[in-house]
Amino acid sequence: MAESVASTGQTSQLTAEQPATDCVAVAVPVPVRRLFTYRVPDAWRDRVRPGCRVAVSFAGRKLVGYVTESAQTAPAGAKVKEIVAVLDPSPIFPRELLAFLRNAAAYYLHPLGEVLRSAAPALDTKSVRVLRGARFLDQKETLPGRSVARRRVLVVRRQPLQGDCPKLGAKQRRVFDLLGQRPEWSLPELREHVANVRAVVRALEAKGLVSSQERELVVDPYFAAPVPAERPVVPNAAQQRAISRLRSRLGGGPATFLLHGVTGSGKTEVYLQVIAGARALGLGVLMLVPEIALTPQLVGRFRARFGDGIAVLHSGLGQRQRADAWHSLHAARVGIAIGARSAVFAPVPKLGLVIVDEEHDASFKQEDGFRYHGRDMALLRSHRAGAVCVLGSATPSLESYYLSERGKFTLLELPERATAQPLPKVQIVDLGRNRSGPSGHPLLTGPLHRALESCLAQQGQAILFLNRRGFSPAVRCAACRRVMVCPACSVALTEHREQASLRCHYCDFGTPNTRCLACKHPQLLPLGAGTERLQAALSETFAPATVARLDRDTAQKGGLESVLRRLRRREIDILIGTQMVTKGHDMPGVTLVGIVLADQSLAFPDFRASERTFQLLAQVAGRSGRGERAGTVLLQTFQPQHLAVRLAAAHDFASFYRGELALRRELGYPPLTRLAAVRTDAGDEKRARAAADILAKLARAQQAVLTGAVRVLGPAPAPLQRLRGRYRYRLLLRASDRGLLRSVVVRLNARIEQGLTPARATIDIDPVSML
Ligand code: ADP
Ligand code: ZN
Repeated sequence: MAESVASTGQTSQLTAEQPATDCVAVAVPVPVRRLFTYRVPDAWRDRVRPGCRVAVSFAGRKLVGYVTESAQTAPAGAKVKEIVAVLDPSPIFPRELLAFLRNAAAYYLHPLGEVLRSAAPALDTKSVRVLRGARFLDQKETLPGRSVARRRVLVVRRQPLQGDCPKLGAKQRRVFDLLGQRPEWSLPELREHVANVRAVVRALEAKGLVSSQERELVVDPYFAAPVPAERPVVPNAAQQRAISRLRSRLGGGPATFLLHGVTGSGKTEVYLQVIAGARALGLGVLMLVPEIALTPQLVGRFRARFGDGIAVLHSGLGQRQRADAWHSLHAARVGIAIGARSAVFAPVPKLGLVIVDEEHDASFKQEDGFRYHGRDMALLRSHRAGAVCVLGSATPSLESYYLSERGKFTLLELPERATAQPLPKVQIVDLGRNRSGPSGHPLLTGPLHRALESCLAQQGQAILFLNRRGFSPAVRCAACRRVMVCPACSVALTEHREQASLRCHYCDFGTPNTRCLACKHPQLLPLGAGTERLQAALSETFAPATVARLDRDTAQKGGLESVLRRLRRREIDILIGTQMVTKGHDMPGVTLVGIVLADQSLAFPDFRASERTFQLLAQVAGRSGRGERAGTVLLQTFQPQHLAVRLAAAHDFASFYRGELALRRELGYPPLTRLAAVRTDAGDEKRARAAADILAKLARAQQAVLTGAVRVLGPAPAPLQRLRGRYRYRLLLRASDRGLLRSVVVRLNARIEQGLTPARATIDIDPVSML
């Protein structure tokens, strides 16, 4: 990303010398942050506006560029190239979105052209033809993808009643009533309720009571099955307070709220009712959720309330589908977008409400290329758009809670569960004192074994949480005693018995698990246990109970949804899984949650390890007892006294926050300070180190560092010292003043753009991963 591109001399930087308004500024997807000037031929002068895509020649390459400013001045004496083609008949980025994307690129010091490319939809066929004519087709953004399957469906609505409702037959009455519950129904949805519905709709149409319209829908798993309409539930007092506060702020300028509601407190219901309020005002809605929480179940709840007028943006979409969803928002055919982090760049019309569910979730941070934080961008975008922003969580990030304490966000609280049962009781099991139970498996202690037995005896369901997939997280050779490590990364290889392989979880290297990589001895001994091993132990011990597993290995190709569906239908007795089981799923039948090894994430070399552990434990504990029956949680740990463990067990967020904040203050970490990480990497260690040294030296020469306002830590080898064959060094910059920190980072970025060959360097603003 940050390797330098030679300056061409043919395109020139913007200066303000002689007035000439026939030029535009173009952002080009290359790793430098400046814009370039191009001349617009007379014939296209009216069409080329900010937010349009154009084809340009750049350093001997042909690229798709993005017009960001019109009426630019050509620099004196420089030869300015002409635009080769105009690709969009009108701006693809609305003004609000373009301005926001420019802000976002500037904040993260990322080249605007790359940011715009990742936010833009695929080009349409006509533009692709233009590009092909100009031999531009070496660019990945010019490939529109294949046309996807669409289906035409009939969408039915009620017509305003003229006078009294005429007498209706039973079927007609049923359809008419359904249409009263929700503004729009598709024919397949109605068919779920009424047989032979097509004829019924025709009859109602003939009476002038309903109207129908054909519409094209993209075939998408989230829309495959029709959902029954759902009425809003009656909110409890706390929910009602939150809903009223939020609704009354809609349309009244920017405001940010932190919705802190314990697990099962009914945050989703609050979102749904506030969204309904926003839609009634004609405002557009953007909702971000962690990728893993974006299940057909969640989307189904939205469709049940709002019909199919929702754009769902997820990583499974092809370019074409993404473009379809993009255009349906852009053209205001739909007004609600739901998606994972990148949905924050969706062209939602008249944006009035932005929701970030599970705002603490680390998956909102993109960890390569454009390293942005989806939540932080949601804050920025809603602020710019004058929209209401709601951050929701049972375990808010320290950053967000801190800002609510300081009055920047308004805190709304849902302190109790919305359902029949209170938060589950958590029993701590000290692994130092409790030996393996009857099964002999070291992680299935006596108390956990008994709890599982009694849960199964009462026809309950259990979830066991172990945040390590595979059979064992490491293996040792029985002969030479070596632990198998990845040839490209400094991590142990995980054994996956089902795949008969040893795998690296960082670079995906794989090799058969049949012999030692060093001495070729045929016996490898597992060290520790992952989900696969625990599943085997559980199946054996608790037969004939059905034991299923949910982790990245089983979640592929619809596996996630199928496991969750089976769990809801009670076809699974025990589910063992990684943190995939902790995210937002509402599983009313689950009465026991077992946290198999609670302190595992505490060992991470990261100042947020304790916070992350607290969040994980509180979230997974929150999966228990969400239905009619009370839930219990068993938490196994080697560190029963640890703050994160003790307070998660007590559901005590406030005390955890206070204790952790005091620690952060003492150590000078966020949210009390701001961080930027500068990482270098190279094929050999010396070069990575040398590049880091150059940047550290430059940083230490800056005024803000000399005065002590900005601290420079390192360079030091990154905790994950080798990754994909490259050695990595890291420099951390820290300051309480964002502006001063930025002044240093901007200087380093300029140096990186000049080139540090043969090393690579990247800057990570507000880093989340400390690896
Ligand atoms: P959260 O997102 O806060 O963990 P959910 O929104 O998933 O909680 O709600 C948990 C359960 O409570 C869901 O089954 C939901 O239908 C139910 N629920 C929410 N609000 C109410 C209410 N006011 N009355 C009864 N049940 C409710
Ligand atoms: Zn590896």
